Amino acid sequence: MANLIDTVTAARPRHPEKANRPETPVLRKPEWIRVKAPGSAVYTETQKIVRDGKLVTVCEEAGCPNIGECWSKKHATFMIMGDTCTRACAFCNVKTGLPDALDGGEPERVADAVARMGLSHSVITSVDRDDLADGGAGHFVRTIKAIRAASPATTIEILTPDFLKKDGALERVVEAKPDVFNHNLETVPGLYLKIRPGARYFHSLRLLQRVKELDRNMFTKSGIMVGLGETREQVMQVMDDMRSANIDFITIGQYLQPTRKHAAIDRFVTPDEFKAYETTAYSKGFLMVSSSPLTRSSHHAGDDFARLRAARAAG
Ligand code: SF4
Repeated sequence: MANLIDTVTAARPRHPEKANRPETPVLRKPEWIRVKAPGSAVYTETQKIVRDGKLVTVCEEAGCPNIGECWSKKHATFMIMGDTCTRACAFCNVKTGLPDALDGGEPERVADAVARMGLSHSVITSVDRDDLADGGAGHFVRTIKAIRAASPATTIEILTPDFLKKDGALERVVEAKPDVFNHNLETVPGLYLKIRPGARYFHSLRLLQRVKELDRNMFTKSGIMVGLGETREQVMQVMDDMRSANIDFITIGQYLQPTRKHAAIDRFVTPDEFKAYETTAYSKGFLMVSSSPLTRSSHHAGDDFARLRAARAAG
C-alpha cells in the first residue's frame, strides 16, 4: 500500500533528493482501485521465506498495491543488489542513495527462496546500480544460473535497469537465457525529463530491440504507467515504438503516488479506457497485453507467461 508520508529513518530520509520538493495534493482513489488486505496465512508464509533469506522484494519497497493478493498466492518479485537505487525517478518509492557492496550470497538465497515457494515462474528485478562497472549484469547472470541450478523447471523473467553506458552488460544478461526480458519504458517520451530524468527513452527502446536481435526466441516485455499527464496519442506512439522494437508483451497500469513528494497523479484512467488500450494494443500486433488499473509488470506474471507462450505457438 502506498505510504503518503516519506519514511524518515534516524539517519536519513528514504528520498533525500525529494526533501525540498513541495508536497503535491493526493487524489482520492476511485472505487475501481480496490486491493486485497495483506494478512492471510500464506501471506505470512511468503513473508517468512523473504525474511529468512534476508531478501528484498519490489513488492514491499515499491509499496505495490497488489501485495495482499500476490503474497497470498506465494508470488513475490525479488529485487536484487540491495534496497538502494542510484537513480531518483519521480514515480518510484525505492530508497535512493549510494548502495552497499554486492552481497555474493544473494543469488543462492534467491534461488533457495524460489525453490521453497515452489514457483513455476520467477520474476527477478533490481535497483539501478550505476555505481558498478557492469551495471549489475554479472549479478543478474549469477542469479539466473542459481535459480536454474536449484529449480530447473522454473521459468525466469527478469526486469532490468537500462544498463546506460555499460557496454557489454546487456549481451552478458541475454547470454544467460532468461525466458522473458522485461525493461519498462515507464512513461511517454515527453514526460521523461519530469518522471524518469536519469534515463533516455530511445536508449530503453533500443535495449529491448537489441535483446530480440541477440536472441529472436527470447520474449520481450515492457510497460508504462498512465495517469501521469500523458495523452492518448502519446500512448499510441509508445505502442508503435514498442512494436517497431519487436516487443511481444505490453503492460499498462495506473500510476499511484507513493508519497506527497513524488509526482502527482494527473488523473485516474477509467477501466473502459484501459480496455480500449488493450484492444488497440492487440490490433497493433502485441502477442500479449495486460492493461488495467492494477496491472504491474509482475502481476500474474506466471499465468501471463503461459498465455504468451501459447500465443506464440498459435501464431
Ligand atoms: S504485482 Fe509484482 S510487485 Fe506487486 S505484489 Fe505482485 S509480485 Fe509484487
